[in-house]
Amino acid sequence: MRRIVVLLAFVCCPAAAQVVPGHRLPEGPERPVRDREIHIERYRADLKFDMPREEISGNATIALSSMRSGLTEVALDAAGLDVTGATASGSPAKFQVDRTARAVRITLPRPLAAGEKTTVGVTWSVHPKTGMYFFPATRMRAAQAWNYGEGGLHDGWLPIYNDVNDKFAVDLAVTVAKPYSALANGVLTETRENSDGTRTFHWVQEKPIPNYLITVDVGEFARLPIGEAKLSTGAVPLSAWTPPGTEAKAALAFRDTPKMVEFFSERFGYPFPWAKYDQVALREFAVGAMETTTLTGFSESHLKGPDDPPDSSPALDEAYPTWTYEDTVSHELAHHWFGDLVTCRSLGSIWLNESFASFCHTVWNGHAHGEDDLTYQRWRYLNKYLDYVRGTGTVRPMEFLRYKSPSAMYQTETTYLKGSLVLHMLRHIVGDSDFYRTLSDYLRAHQFDNAESEDLKQAFESSCGRNLSWFFDDWIRGGGGHPVFEVSYRWVPERKQVDLTVKQIQADLSFENDFRLPVDVEIATRSGVRQHRVEVSGWSTSIALPSE
Ligand SMILES: [Zn+2]
Repeated sequence: MRRIVVLLAFVCCPAAAQVVPGHRLPEGPERPVRDREIHIERYRADLKFDMPREEISGNATIALSSMRSGLTEVALDAAGLDVTGATASGSPAKFQVDRTARAVRITLPRPLAAGEKTTVGVTWSVHPKTGMYFFPATRMRAAQAWNYGEGGLHDGWLPIYNDVNDKFAVDLAVTVAKPYSALANGVLTETRENSDGTRTFHWVQEKPIPNYLITVDVGEFARLPIGEAKLSTGAVPLSAWTPPGTEAKAALAFRDTPKMVEFFSERFGYPFPWAKYDQVALREFAVGAMETTTLTGFSESHLKGPDDPPDSSPALDEAYPTWTYEDTVSHELAHHWFGDLVTCRSLGSIWLNESFASFCHTVWNGHAHGEDDLTYQRWRYLNKYLDYVRGTGTVRPMEFLRYKSPSAMYQTETTYLKGSLVLHMLRHIVGDSDFYRTLSDYLRAHQFDNAESEDLKQAFESSCGRNLSWFFDDWIRGGGGHPVFEVSYRWVPERKQVDLTVKQIQADLSFENDFRLPVDVEIATRSGVRQHRVEVSGWSTSIALPSE
């Protein structure tokens, strides 16, 4: 026997890594799924953007149904809106602006029964402080306005239900002075020239989306067709919208998107579910990109030439970037299944959006650039996550309902990097075929609706007969940390076996459990390499493996 190589796969931390005593869970109030009294069915709004004044005036007509018996008023989230009128069932209605609750309350003419439908209307104006952001014209740039709603920001420019657990059709007619144009979710059904020199762009998103995926972008954009994705259900048209003069860079940035749409449609066993897929480059955008349905917004940093670095923060001492622009393009597209089609029921389950989209962009990376790139990317993600835990001592399960502010749930190393590795681990346990078949069933079971972790666990039970309670308890709903292994082995010549002992030496705190997980062990001898899959379970696992 020349050497023994013990490879413990995926998120397992080698014993050499330092154990940080006293890992802690993030603090904050418990934020369960939000109670609601109404279900919005259709959100119709006429919006007028005054670009020089950075003001929006709006008139919304909201079709809804009551979820309560005897509903006497409709409360909509509205932070800082100057509400000047309201209607109920088409007639003027009493309303009250509750600044403490950041809401407008509209009195109904009579109590509604549960399930009964009505419409309410709101007229308002606002200089938005959150949700919609204006950028003035400069000598070099045209004015622009774009929105960002993740974490509950859209009540800063729309009267709306401002949480993730309701979905509705969105029908927006946006009026803006020339030369600006307005982009939004869904299909452009009409462009109208008005007598006052403005134009109205009427966009309709028929399939339901949650409020945070609504988008309106106003500015000067050149449209660049980037082909179509050919799917079993028909062709999906794709376009990029970009500042005039940057078309060549946009063509380069988004050139692979049709192939990505085809790849994910096949991989998830679920064709791209939306009418179109557009991508827009936005001035000084708040984040790298945002998966607003059918019209993903990107930072202009994605508009690069062919010789520019493939990521936004190239590190010269790194062999390969951690997260490339291409990763972001595939990540936002993947959200159109995981996040947009099936949405977490509360931010505590945001991993169902973000860990999945991160997993998907690594899967695209492996498909486009090879398995070695995927393996290396996973290794980078593991080390970045471990560095984060070593530096902060903070760990948490993937689903976690206590947080101080929504941004805490978007913590990169935990939600994006560790989360993607947890899903790779699940894929490893279940096997590719059953894993993706289950994801397809999960998407169909919860399409255009919300889900939480239990729904995913149930999907594995019903689709491939696996009770994965132990995995969900270790990684998703319980635990919070990760295993740290101390590995020892001894060759026993009389038995021709290797006695392998794997101890878990992470802190034994109330929330830091021991982990059960299958790992691959390779034993290399003169006669070759044999791989064994063994199950590590409990604080100490001893296994005898054959070794000639
Ligand atoms: Zn994302």
